[in-house]
Amino acid sequence: MRHRVYLALGSNLGDGKANLDKAVGLIAERIGEVEAVSTYLVSEPWGFESSNMFTNGALALTTELDPFELLDVTQAIEREMGRTHKHRQGEPYTDRIIDIDILLYDDLHVSTERLTIPHPHINDRDFVKIPLSEIINQ
Ligand code: ATP
Ligand code: CA
Ligand code: CA
Repeated sequence: MRHRVYLALGSNLGDGKANLDKAVGLIAERIGEVEAVSTYLVSEPWGFESSNMFTNGALALTTELDPFELLDVTQAIEREMGRTHKHRQGEPYTDRIIDIDILLYDDLHVSTERLTIPHPHINDRDFVKIPLSEIINQ
């Protein structure tokens, strides 16, 4: 069974565009068929102070992975690309080479300690909403 998934990508360390392109390639290899990739946009960090601007984008894909398998693979890709710090609720956000968030998975709702779908911050982040709206009706 193929599921329709939307992911958000972000990077504010190193070459943001190259980091997002690399993540898209690894996602295509390991997760499923990438159907649309948004244009990337560059914006100020959200929720913390940093001089490193963010590059953000979104992509649509189909996958046979269930939501938790999907999170395992996206987190493995983050680690392989050099992401070290994990954000904990209440702590400030930090610079990151790559962040891959699961925005939507079919019309599923998941609410566990490890995974919340839809991603809770879609609507208050323009850098997520804008790329997502670009690809969601394609
Ligand atoms: P935010 O989630 O506010 O964008 P962040 O992306 O900086 O913050 P991370 O350090 O990347 O936070 O992830 C923290 C934890 O969030 C992960 O370990 C993961 O278990 C959990 N998580 C919950 N829901 C999701 C989701 N929809 N997509 C990705 N991770 C999620
Ligand atoms: Ca995030
Ligand atoms: Ca994340």
